[in-house]
Amino acid sequence: MRDHHADIHWDKNKLPISTRFDDVYFSKHSGLDESKYVFLEQNNLSTRWQQLKTNEQFIIAETGFGTGLNFLLTWQAWIEHHNNQNTFEQNNTLHFYSVEKYPLKLDDLKKALSLWPELNIFNQKLLDAYPPHTCRGLHKIQFDNKVTLTLYLGEVTDGLQALLPIVNPGPEVESIESTYGINNPAVNAWYLDGFAPAKNPGMWRDDVFKLMNRLSRPTTSFATFTAAGKVRRGLEEHGFNCRKTKGFGTKREMLCGELKSTLPYRTLSTPSAKQEPLSTSWHLQEKPELIDQPIASALVIGGGLAGCHTAWALAQRGIKVTILEQKSKLAQGGSGNKRGIIYTRLSPHNDPLSVFNLHSLLFACHFYKANGFFPSVGEQCGVLHLAQTKKANDYYKQLLLQFSEQENFLHWVEKEETQGLSNFQLDCGGLFLPRAGWLDPALLCIELSKHKNISTIYSQKIHSLVKSDSNWHALNEPGEVLHSADIAIIANAHEAQALTQSNFLPVNKIRGQVTYIESGLKRPLRTTVCSDGYMAQVGDRGLCVGASFNLDEEQLHLSQQEHAHNLEKLARFGPEFQAMAKSVEPGQLDGRAAFRCVSPDYFPIVGPVPQLQAFSQDFAVLGKKANAQIDKCGIYHEGLFTLLALGSRGLAYAPIAADTLASMICGEPPPLSLQLYLHVHPARFIIRDLIRNKPIKGLH
Ligand code: SAM
Repeated sequence: MRDHHADIHWDKNKLPISTRFDDVYFSKHSGLDESKYVFLEQNNLSTRWQQLKTNEQFIIAETGFGTGLNFLLTWQAWIEHHNNQNTFEQNNTLHFYSVEKYPLKLDDLKKALSLWPELNIFNQKLLDAYPPHTCRGLHKIQFDNKVTLTLYLGEVTDGLQALLPIVNPGPEVESIESTYGINNPAVNAWYLDGFAPAKNPGMWRDDVFKLMNRLSRPTTSFATFTAAGKVRRGLEEHGFNCRKTKGFGTKREMLCGELKSTLPYRTLSTPSAKQEPLSTSWHLQEKPELIDQPIASALVIGGGLAGCHTAWALAQRGIKVTILEQKSKLAQGGSGNKRGIIYTRLSPHNDPLSVFNLHSLLFACHFYKANGFFPSVGEQCGVLHLAQTKKANDYYKQLLLQFSEQENFLHWVEKEETQGLSNFQLDCGGLFLPRAGWLDPALLCIELSKHKNISTIYSQKIHSLVKSDSNWHALNEPGEVLHSADIAIIANAHEAQALTQSNFLPVNKIRGQVTYIESGLKRPLRTTVCSDGYMAQVGDRGLCVGASFNLDEEQLHLSQQEHAHNLEKLARFGPEFQAMAKSVEPGQLDGRAAFRCVSPDYFPIVGPVPQLQAFSQDFAVLGKKANAQIDKCGIYHEGLFTLLALGSRGLAYAPIAADTLASMICGEPPPLSLQLYLHVHPARFIIRDLIRNKPIKGLH
């Protein structure tokens, strides 16, 4: 991770100036009014927002996030619009997608935003959620009142490509409208704000205009402060009508306009594309025909964290969701412990799993706070990752360097400071993540399921899923239809293997047991602590300590031996915990055992469900030539998705996984880059087995 942050100096009026580009972030004469005039008014936002239908979204894409001023003003205008029109119940969502190669450091952002006290309530929310500026890639941040910011930290063309399902399609794929799931994001309005074209030509290249065309629809508008001839000609060549209009204040002219025509994909292939053309078309599918109408209903099989998060994400978008749970309550499987922590393994490496871990952790911490689950069913008390081994210590020290000056994301705590932080003297120092914490997973599932668009059917085991009349039907063993909906999501952990469509998925179960120690604490434990195990407070003085890993055991009885293992982990946290571990008798302890659902590569499984036979046939040639260019989309069960294998990271992985599904169903900016998405995709196992010439599970 290289630190490409904004290089800023401040002029005599305390305005931020980019040293790298020798240009201003906003106008010297009332930046607020200029932004409103150029971007909001010339895109005609307020009239267009009035015309939004129920549940409809509006996507704004910006080149150059800078200080976020345009975003904050748009957010404010969105709230004012809905307040004035009293239209919050229409459930419209504003998606603001912005690309930034040189993000401001948090302190610079604070200083820049302090210029606008009138925007304070929005400023503070942005500052609280601002991603670590050294963490490149996508950061989707959902704010209250249906406003979502997706910030891509990186080069503008990469950021715009991240909105596209494919970059360089072959002729076959090009001839159809392909998608990740059901709908693709389409931008409604563009803000072009990348410093003056003469000072920063890289933001006004043909590649950018091409991508704008591909991401636009006939009603899409754009606005920019510049009237440079090069920009006008570039936009016109790429299908936009351009109008010169009066610039703000003393500026003579600016440009705005609309898309006139979309150009065929092939002519739009971008030379900077990182992927080989077509190397990844298996993750695409033909856009389903049924989808002229928005998706109205969904059925979700499984009422654990995977199912409840998915249901909530869809319900938020106005879809009526029914959760089908075989037990008589939610969260009776792997999601039922009294405490779970927002945890992923932190590593300084840039391998896909480490990057996924980091992004899911950031997404989850914000998700629980923004939606009130901290404090309703958990506590944002931070998580201290103790550096108990040399490897952990090395990793954490490297992470500290990567995230220096980003203390609101992570910072180091010395052994001597652990008493002040946690209220207990701990065994060693470590890395503290103040945005994380613990949640009660079962209560969280209940809270999520209280959404007004969610209903639940309990005590019914789904035996099969059948599609007919463009509906998915969930059937019980005698073949009775228990529920039907437009789309279905399989989210029942390892039991997904009992359903014909998902039986090829290589999910395993690993038993884990947590230990509850009632009233063991002499005083409150003020933060959650983890290393190879974890401990979090339960009630006034209780502790939840976890968790064992037992690959061999198929039963769920409480095991004394596993309690003893948990107590060993507890003892290693510090002297008082050692004493506590000694003072209890494993045979007398309460706890809970459950199965975690894991995949062989430890990534969760998230996305559309392939039709095994047809999919494998179409891509069989990969067995002969691993990098064969196959000009085909994958064949998937239309409207059938899955979310499984959250392992022991359910609280951290489920929010980003559920948002990934909901985004591909509703055509929103995704929270995961294409590279990471391919790592969680359900069809990855088939592709890998084909390439390695291994027999494909479930294929006869
Ligand atoms: N919209 C911003 C605001 O509201 O504060 C101001 C944007 S500022 C004028 C232009 C931004 O474009 C800078 O933050 C700069 O770092 C960013 N930028 C410049 N070149 C870029 C590139 N090639 N890719 C992505 N962002 C770039």
